[in-house]
Order: sequence, then C-alpha cells, then structure tokens
Amino acid sequence: MEPKRSVYMDHAATTPVQPEVVEAMLPYFSERFGNPSSIYALAREAREAVEEARGRVAVAIGAEPEEIFFTSGGTEANNWAIKGVAAALRGRGDHIVTSAIEHHAVLHPCRALEKQGYRVTYLPVDAFGRVDAGDVEEAITETTMLISVMAANNEIGTVQPTAEIGRVAHDRGVLFHADAVQAIGSYPVDVDAMEVDLLTLSAHKFGGPKGVGALYIRRGTRIAAFMDGGAQERGRRGGTENVPGIVGLGHAIEIAIAEMPRRSARIAAMRDRMSAAILDTIPDTRLNGHPTERLANNVNVAFRYVEGESILLLLDAHGIAASSGSACTSASLEPSHVLLATGLSHEEAHGSLRLTPGPGNTEEDADYVLSVLPGIIERLREISPLRGG
Ligand SMILES: *Cc1c(COP(=O)(O)O)cnc(C)c1O
Repeated sequence: MEPKRSVYMDHAATTPVQPEVVEAMLPYFSERFGNPSSIYALAREAREAVEEARGRVAVAIGAEPEEIFFTSGGTEANNWAIKGVAAALRGRGDHIVTSAIEHHAVLHPCRALEKQGYRVTYLPVDAFGRVDAGDVEEAITETTMLISVMAANNEIGTVQPTAEIGRVAHDRGVLFHADAVQAIGSYPVDVDAMEVDLLTLSAHKFGGPKGVGALYIRRGTRIAAFMDGGAQERGRRGGTENVPGIVGLGHAIEIAIAEMPRRSARIAAMRDRMSAAILDTIPDTRLNGHPTERLANNVNVAFRYVEGESILLLLDAHGIAASSGSACTSASLEPSHVLLATGLSHEEAHGSLRLTPGPGNTEEDADYVLSVLPGIIERLREISPLRGG
C-alpha cells in the first residue's frame, strides 16, 4: 500500500538543502573550482568566496570573521574545542565540566580525554533537561580548564541557560564552549550575549549541506590546532577547504537567521498544536523536555507500553519520517542517555517519539501525522507485552 503522503518531520537529524543554497554552491564545483591557496585569478575567486562565507557566519553569531574556523561539521568542531583546549592547557589544568545530556560528539571526546588522565564532571539535569548554572559553579575547581554545555538539546529541545553559565565561567576564568548546532536558526545565538569562548555549528542542521561546519574561537583563546597540515584556516586546521560546502554554509546561515522570526513563530505554533493534540487524545503520554524553554521545532513525547522503534516503523509505512531519540543512537537498543538523565525509566525512554518539523512542513503535514498517530499507538498497545492486566 502506498502511503497517502510523504512527511519529513526529522529536521533535528538533518534538513534538505535550500534551493538558493544549492544554486550558490554549484559554480564552486565546476567553473570556479580553484584551490583557495593558489595565486592565480581562479584561486582568488575561491578564496574570496570562502572569506565571504566567513563574514556571513560571523555576522550571524555576532563574531568577527577572524574568529570563524571552518570544519567538516559539528562533530569535528566539538572534538576540536574539547581536545584542543585540553591539549593547550595541559599542565595548567586537567578538569572539564560538561552535562549528562550532551551530544555524543561532546561526550565521547570527553571519555577519550578521561582515558588519557583528564577528569570530567558530567552534570545532572532536572526533569525538563535543564542544567543549573549554580551546579556548574559548584563543579569548578582550581584545575578546571573548560566548561562545555550545549545551547539546546537535539533530542528533547530543551534550551540551556547559556548566558548564565557563560557568566559563571568568566567570573571564574574558565573557558566556555557551547554546542549550538541545534540552536542556529531556531533560537537567537550571539557569542557575546552568551559569553562563549568557543561555539560549534553545523550547516546541515539549518538548510545547508552535510560535511561542513564551523568552530567559533574567541580572539585570544588558547587552543591547539586540530588538523596538522597546510596553512589553511590560519594554520589551525590544515586541509584544502571544502569551498562549495563553505559557500553553502554561508548562504544557509544568512537565510536561517533572516527567516528565523517568521519561521520559528509558525513552527512553534505547529509544535504546540501537535504536542497538545497528542497529549490530549492519546492516554498514558507525557511531554519530554521543557514546556516553554524549548526549541521551536521540537515535539518529544513518551508513550507508555510501546516501543519507539515500532512507532517509527509504522510511521514510516505511512510515509512519515521521525525519530525515537537521536539519529546516532536509534540503531542501537540502548535507551537515550538524554531521556534517562531527565529521570525517565528505561521503558518510558524506549517509548519516546521525536517529531521535528521544519520550514517546508505545512499544517496539512501536521494534520496527517495527528490523524495517523493515535491508531498506531492503539495498535501497538493492543499487542504490547509491556501492558499488564
Ligand atoms: C547533529 C549534531 C552534532 C553533529 O554535527 P555533524 O555536523 O552531523 O557532525 C553535534 N551536536 C548536536 C547537538 C547535533 O544535533
């Protein structure tokens, strides 16, 4: 049976590249293919395009162009921020403060550093997924080098008190990194207002291409180079630049920021309508994440007595793309570390569904999801071994 509609509601996993962005990138694959490091006109064109993109990213987050360093994406930028500071400040410190609900691209570099003898504090969160700035302050010791707390969570959409944490970090003279991959285009990001020294972003989460991102490094921040090689990115990240990707990143962030007020108001209204309808019409459900301090595009609900994976399969059979946690963990049977950190039982965490609408979704898409979901949950509960009695 062919599904009636095809609805993509997994924008926290990735987004389609906006047509204007594809348009802007295309010439840099073909006629403007020069290597930015060469000296002839063709190379200059590519170099200028990279610098123009750097300027667009800087403007979008309130930074200076020389504070923007292009990377292969959010994962690389997070690795660089954490391992780069750890390497540069080795000897002066050995301690990192982060949270239990970070993306694996933060948690796993921290684990790797622990194996090398560094110490890491993984702060707990409240039932809504919020980190307490007071807890951050208490965790700081004489040897703390870095605080890394994400601006907004990819699974439950909870927005963190980033500016408060930044103030604590600076009062105590500790560097502060924020993974802002989910926040860009959905929530205002300003490096000065947030008092961050390092900030991660990734193009494919806001209408740009995959495999390109950036690390903001505040001027004067002590951080080791991540990739040793050529003199690209002022000697701090060697390797011939991904010119089309960088051009795409620049255009995508400019559009995402310009469109944010209009888009996020519409998407937040869709989010609220969907959450309310699901919670009202389906029994034994609860909202995951914060009721108000959450990303405009994030709906995350726990359904008792069902498996998230089964919901996804039946949604897929109806042409609906969604997620039951983060895309990176949905292939494993481990329940989401984020949901567990908010106090959910393994069973509740397993029965959670994340819907993340985007600019391309219409009210009809939301209606379709809302028309299909209650029947899916009912069917699964009828056959559920989890349901007693
Ligand atoms: C997607 C994501 C990343 C990883 O970014 P990639 O560009 O896919 O490597 C890191 N952090 C968060 C919060 C994300 O959502």
